[in-house]
Amino acid sequence: MRRSNIMVPKPHSNFLSVQCSKCGEKVVIFTYSTTDIECKACGQLVAKKTGGKANIMGKVLSVLD
Ligand SMILES: [Zn+2]
Repeated sequence: MRRSNIMVPKPHSNFLSVQCSKCGEKVVIFTYSTTDIECKACGQLVAKKTGGKANIMGKVLSVLD
C-alpha cells in the first residue's frame, strides 16, 4: 500500500497572504490567529478569530510556510 500520497496536516500552522477585500492591500496573517486581524492600510477586518483556524474575510492569495 502506498503511503506517500496520504495527506498529513501540518502539525502547526502556516501563514497566509490575504488580500483585503476593501482596499486590496496584501496582509500576511497567521492561520491560527487568536486575534482579529485588520488591514493595516484601511482597518477592514481580514481575518476573524474563531478559537481554531482563523476565518479569512479577504481573498487568500497564497499560503506561506
Ligand atoms: Zn484594506
